[in-house]
Amino acid sequence: LIPDAKIDEIRDRTDIVRVVADHVELKRKGQNWFGLCPFHSEKTPSFSVHAQKQMFHCFGCHETGDVFGFLMRVEGRPFGEVARDLANRAGVDLPESSPERDPGARERRSERERCLEVNALVAGLYRQMLGAEQGAPGRAYLREREIRDDVIESFQLGYAPQAWDTLSGALARLDVPPQLGEKLGLIAPRRGGQGHYDRFRGRIIFPLIGPAGEVLGFGGRRTIDGGDEPKYINTPETPVYRKGESLYGLHAARQAIRHEGRALLVEGNIDVLSLHQAGHRNAVAPMGTALTERQARLVRRFAPGVTVMFDGDAAGRKAALAAVPRLLAEDVDARIASLGDGEDPDSLARRGGGEAVAACLRAAVPAVDFALQEILARTERTIPGRVRAIEEAAPLLLAVPNASARDLYAGKLAAALDLDVGHVYRALRGAAPQVAEARPAGQVRDLPPAEAQLLALLADHPELAPLAGAAGVLGLVEDDAARRVLGCTLAAASAGRLDVAAILADAPEDRREAVARALLSSSFAGCEDPARALRECLARLLGRSLERRAAEMRRESRRAEETGDRGRARELALQAVDLDRQRRAAIENHERHPGGGDVGVQNEPRGDR
Ligand SMILES: [Zn+2]
Repeated sequence: LIPDAKIDEIRDRTDIVRVVADHVELKRKGQNWFGLCPFHSEKTPSFSVHAQKQMFHCFGCHETGDVFGFLMRVEGRPFGEVARDLANRAGVDLPESSPERDPGARERRSERERCLEVNALVAGLYRQMLGAEQGAPGRAYLREREIRDDVIESFQLGYAPQAWDTLSGALARLDVPPQLGEKLGLIAPRRGGQGHYDRFRGRIIFPLIGPAGEVLGFGGRRTIDGGDEPKYINTPETPVYRKGESLYGLHAARQAIRHEGRALLVEGNIDVLSLHQAGHRNAVAPMGTALTERQARLVRRFAPGVTVMFDGDAAGRKAALAAVPRLLAEDVDARIASLGDGEDPDSLARRGGGEAVAACLRAAVPAVDFALQEILARTERTIPGRVRAIEEAAPLLLAVPNASARDLYAGKLAAALDLDVGHVYRALRGAAPQVAEARPAGQVRDLPPAEAQLLALLADHPELAPLAGAAGVLGLVEDDAARRVLGCTLAAASAGRLDVAAILADAPEDRREAVARALLSSSFAGCEDPARALRECLARLLGRSLERRAAEMRRESRRAEETGDRGRARELALQAVDLDRQRRAAIENHERHPGGGDVGVQNEPRGDR
């Protein structure tokens, strides 16, 4: 178990913004950072990261937490692992039982850690093999493809020799359990007999590198075409690699994608390498699958636009077509760059260099135009042909997020098919999925404005907490939920650690959103005189409290009069008048000395409640 003090140390020494930025493209807005939420599908950023408060919060799906919680959720890993990783990154030493004293320690490390360690080791072995004598066929292949050394280096390319036992032998010598190699899809048990054989043979190895530089899996391409062996193979599903969740080349392309606001999506790993060395460093590929929803969402977190540049043959056009609805569904500004028949991004880059690629990209058309053209091009103008075309186009048009654009496309399609636009709309209605309502409204209740303001102030200036506490602020808050949250906030701030995530976790469910909005507003972050802001807050709360009590006295007084207790009624009425007077005095005092004066509530009368 990791001691709490260590956890605090890790949190303090970790920049949550940098950790989140590995997974989400963040833009600064005032004190805070915003991006598209990795926990729910959205089109406008409601996911916020707060550097000073060291936490994240999504105003859409209400996920909230600190840097540990973020990594646990986004990477699906247990707390201990995430904490150890962050400790390493932050240079915090964790008290760990040393292996010689505790021989079980190695076994107890998580499966994921061991898998990543073996993958890193294997990537290193394959790299060595590419450079060694046995790597000659691999080097020849890369030379023929004109892949430069710096690209080989930055993509950590390797080579698996054409033999059955190169890797399995090396892993055995390094004491890596064969079960682990098997689980990682690197080796497989021999059919009739003992031992294991290599899955990657005679292939260039493309490691798939994750956001923190970890090796998640491998792709392998035959260096010699022909034979029974498939041209490409990839790591199967493993504890650290899930098909369709990552993009090849993203580790190297991320910066450029952010910078250009657009990713370049290609089919093959070699295309990625070629484009990178031709200066188009925003190229990524989907690693042997059709583009998945998760990949579309992943790329959308880094940039709003994607240009698809698939092979210039029928299969490539079909794959591009299949990617379009996925991209539109994630609100990606998708464009399609068409290549000539028989051309692929690699051949284009090698033939014409970066300039030829740039020209092709300039000629890219909006994805929906491309898709409609494709559908129309192969539509027979018979009635069944036209019906099929509408049915094929319907999901595509439904995915267009902008309603006017959708209408224009519907009109264009109808005209091209020589149909009334009503037919197109009927097909759209038929194809529309029954969308469930987002979370029911009314579950979220606001905080009273004065309380919300006070929470915002304390979140930005926790040093005011003792002052606020001494002024008896809790006695001024009527709302139970607000008092509870305020109590937590005061206690935490006084202790010098304002853990917003913990406060939020403790807040009543229906108020959590309002509390989050207050604590994360940063409305007082730039405040020049926070002490004065506190006094104003307290004055407001005091005024309201006195007013409320005066009203209560008057009600009581009326009731006493109704029951015939005139003495009591008169006494209560006088108390009400006195409370009104105090309230006016407090306001006047504050207006006369807005910057100074003591607005504490020590002199507050204790009415008989
Ligand atoms: Zn969210």
